[in-house]
Amino acid sequence: MALPGADKFVSTHEFAQSLDGKDPLHHFREQFFLPVDKIYLDGNSLGLMPRKSEIAIQRVLNEWKSMGIGGWLNAQIPWFYFSERMGEKIAPIVGAKPSEVVMTGTTTINLHSLVSTFYQPEGAKTKILADELNFPNDLYALGGQIQMKGLNLQNHLVLVPSEDGKTLDEQKIIEMMTPDIALIILPSVLYRSGQLLNIAHLTKEAHVRNIVIGFDCCHSVGAVPHKFDEWDVDFAFWCSYKYLNSGPGAPGFLYINERHFSKKNGLIGWFGYIKEKQFDMALQFEQANNAGGWQISSPGIIAAGGVEGALEITLAAGIEQIRKKSLHMTEYLIFLVKELLSQDPYSFMIGTPLESTRRSGHIALEREKDAYRINKALIHHGFIPDFRPPNVIRIAPIALYNTYEEVWNLVHTLKQIIDTKEYLQFSEERSIIS
Ligand SMILES: *Cc1c(COP(=O)(O)O)cnc(C)c1O
Repeated sequence: MALPGADKFVSTHEFAQSLDGKDPLHHFREQFFLPVDKIYLDGNSLGLMPRKSEIAIQRVLNEWKSMGIGGWLNAQIPWFYFSERMGEKIAPIVGAKPSEVVMTGTTTINLHSLVSTFYQPEGAKTKILADELNFPNDLYALGGQIQMKGLNLQNHLVLVPSEDGKTLDEQKIIEMMTPDIALIILPSVLYRSGQLLNIAHLTKEAHVRNIVIGFDCCHSVGAVPHKFDEWDVDFAFWCSYKYLNSGPGAPGFLYINERHFSKKNGLIGWFGYIKEKQFDMALQFEQANNAGGWQISSPGIIAAGGVEGALEITLAAGIEQIRKKSLHMTEYLIFLVKELLSQDPYSFMIGTPLESTRRSGHIALEREKDAYRINKALIHHGFIPDFRPPNVIRIAPIALYNTYEEVWNLVHTLKQIIDTKEYLQFSEERSIIS
């Protein structure tokens, strides 16, 4: 059964239920642990726990119990090869060859190791181009890398400005790809507005100018299909705990285009050694001739079980199907907000680009006033959204486990919160984690 297009949407409760009835991915919801009596809309920050992740983590615990050190070679997935196996598993989800992806580190660690490989200031090319809307963490790390090279941070980190404080103009990014830029690091998706950048186009323009380009894909892998090889990006990195649902702080991933396999990992460690020789314990480091060369330490195998289970779910549903449903759900949310919440006194705005090619899996609901207190009221009603200052409520309807009815419920609860002015009873003071 085909789901109706946006031109056929209506705002009734029955319609929401009928969409769930026709949803080909609806049964994947049963594969997750859902928080009791809550409507979880924060899977873009931390995905819910897949049942298969619990099973895989339990298996790893049992292997540790029964085999001790033997698990490195004799476990169901030998721990020694676990990271490479997860790389092979995720490769089709990101459009890469199995040898180009490895599970390792975490986003920030991988950012550091990749930038120390690819940032080689030389001659007139000495600067890093990034953007002022990136998750500040990435800019901190880039600043650290520049300072480690003994260069001045102010002069060497160039940030693409945003006209509206929400989105980036790709033309502007391209204009700033000047001859003094050695490396470009951009997010695939802006964490606040949810704008999805055109990775293929930006990569092409960077390469025309002889600039290396890498992407932080934390907010797109698991929600959007990637074609790293086809787009020809130089490298990419991402976490596994947002749309991939692998668990809090679970190991991340990195992609290295195979033409760069001979480059040196900037943060060398023994897990990046040629696998067959790692235990020879030679004093000379010999880097693996694939993405595995960018590993540093022994992988955290217990947490890696979470990755194994989660990837199985994403592969079973299919990333193209996930994207299709995700776009349909966000389209439906945009429709309901426009229909029911855009006029005074509701006054909500959509801060995410409306074109489907320019958004990822979440929608930024904005309101000039009281957004923080409204978010608090939503939490009081059992919703789990998240808030990003100054005025953005992020809503992520996740294709694998959220329902259209939950989206309908959210919009109707927001309407009620404004109708009754109940948000006025919540303070404007922010808590530590939002
Ligand atoms: C989630 C996210 C991170 C998280 O970094 P960790 O090292 O996993 O804490 C970093 N950058 C971006 C853009 C993110 O969205």
